Amino acid sequence: MGLIPEATIQEVRDRADIVGLIGRYVELKPAGRNWKGLCPFHQEKTPSFNVNMDRQIFHCFGCGEGGNAITFLVKHENLTFPEAVRTLAAENGVEVPESDRHDRGETEGLLGALEEAQRCYREQLLLPTGKTAMEYLQRRGLDAGTIERFGLGYAPDTWDTLALAFERAHIRPEFGVAAGLLSVRSSGGHYDRLRGRVTFPIQDVRGRVIAFGGRSLLPDQEPKYLNTTESLVYQKRRVFYGYPHALEPIRRAGRAIVCEGYFDAIALARADLGESVATCGTALTPDHAQDLKRRTKQVSLLFDGDAAGQKAMERALEILLPSGLRVRAVVLPKGFDPDDFLMDHGAESLRQVVDGARDAVEVVIHRVMRSVGSSPGDKADAVRHVAQLISRISDPVERSEYTRRLAMATATDAGAVEAVVREERRGQASEKQRNSPVEKFPSRQNSPEDRHLRMLGAILCHHPTFLTEDRVSEINRVLPEGTWKALILELVDAVSAGILDERGFIDFDAMEHRLSSEQMGMLREVMVEESVISTETPAETVFTQLLDRYQMKDLEVREQELKRRLSEPDANHVQLLTERQELIERRKALKNREVLQYPP
Ligand SMILES: [Zn+2]
Repeated sequence: MGLIPEATIQEVRDRADIVGLIGRYVELKPAGRNWKGLCPFHQEKTPSFNVNMDRQIFHCFGCGEGGNAITFLVKHENLTFPEAVRTLAAENGVEVPESDRHDRGETEGLLGALEEAQRCYREQLLLPTGKTAMEYLQRRGLDAGTIERFGLGYAPDTWDTLALAFERAHIRPEFGVAAGLLSVRSSGGHYDRLRGRVTFPIQDVRGRVIAFGGRSLLPDQEPKYLNTTESLVYQKRRVFYGYPHALEPIRRAGRAIVCEGYFDAIALARADLGESVATCGTALTPDHAQDLKRRTKQVSLLFDGDAAGQKAMERALEILLPSGLRVRAVVLPKGFDPDDFLMDHGAESLRQVVDGARDAVEVVIHRVMRSVGSSPGDKADAVRHVAQLISRISDPVERSEYTRRLAMATATDAGAVEAVVREERRGQASEKQRNSPVEKFPSRQNSPEDRHLRMLGAILCHHPTFLTEDRVSEINRVLPEGTWKALILELVDAVSAGILDERGFIDFDAMEHRLSSEQMGMLREVMVEESVISTETPAETVFTQLLDRYQMKDLEVREQELKRRLSEPDANHVQLLTERQELIERRKALKNREVLQYPP
């Protein structure tokens, strides 16, 4: 794949509606010139995540994450930069020039092969060869609409249906092999990997097919479920089956339902629980948890009612709790999975069971306690088993509440249970430290000085014309040295180089090439800064007053210096006193020029 021309990227950025885009993932409320919401990149209870429509940028004052519409998709959806550009381009009707077909990269090659496979499998299901598969799906209660909606297909029990389809479509078999769709024959040539199976397309959040799950239709065929292999476009630890269709329902319902099987996810969706997704042949991973955390606060786990299902539920809970998600456990009657349950009891009953799901930690507490033996040792084991889960809860209030409940449920001394939870938590903390360095977010400085400098920067961005020659030299002379001064001087340079956009503001996008990523973060901060624009005082007055303040400070420092020199034994009193008098007068003049009342 060739590079996307800069002009196209620019056009994509210009046409993107960042508020609409981010609004799909984050609930945004208008706040002055910005839109505000809870940051999807770090945990917070009060919104510090800002989206600025004028600038088409977002910035979080809590964790410093920020950028434009393209970078949002890159960071939030784990897309590569070109993928994000193409996604936005497609949505906004911008044409991205395709480079030479033969030159298409590995990713495009893989996706092309997967797309062709999807076309082929769906076609096969509708042909007479697919009759057995179709009957099987109908027996499981799936109608034509559901089959169509989930893109179900059939991989016939032959060796080369797909291999031949690739040949006809001029798709290189290497891509089929890399996608886990074909295998290489020892005698040369290729053969189909999925045979005699119903196929479930696994899609990324953009709806592109990235893998397949295959359910065996032949008696004695092992394994019952076979997935295509991981590849450049498919990592199962990150992917949920059914995710693209579930995104909107998850946002609406305020929760995600996580189950284990393709048929389960489909059954739930058929029962009007569209917020359901399934893991793809793997247990829930921290990557999954992080992804869910960005989209919702609550997760309902729906695993089989047997012992294995319960174990899986506890493992999932261990993964989800540290991320701060509230987790509920849907408990189906023994022997039922969601699919059976839907068939036997109907959609309404399934919805009731899901909606009535209890808090997952409570479920574990009660299950463990029911089965515990009576000896002190048994009890200690059981308490520790649950304490280990509780210790993973990130919120201290919640954690202590569960600790209290565990103590009550087991009739154990609360202090003793608390000690066990603390012990477990310490164990995890040191484990975490060993395994991964704790990520540290740069925290926003909020001293008055910092605020004033930020405001100066903000005014500069929006009113480059305020920069007279005098003011430039003043800025050079009186601003305190540091990162803010460095940034402000960069802005001054940009103004003199004429790097302005059509509104006469400093051109944010163009600054990207001139600033470090830390400085870009600071620049985003000043660009979404509201206090500047919302004030009643004209911006130029604020600007002058801020500069005057720094000048005043500068004069004070110089006066101190003169005082010191005057006290030296061989001081030239006449000259120093004259200088000092000069300073005092300048200070007076400055004071008289304006009443320094703003900013506070
Ligand atoms: Zn944040």
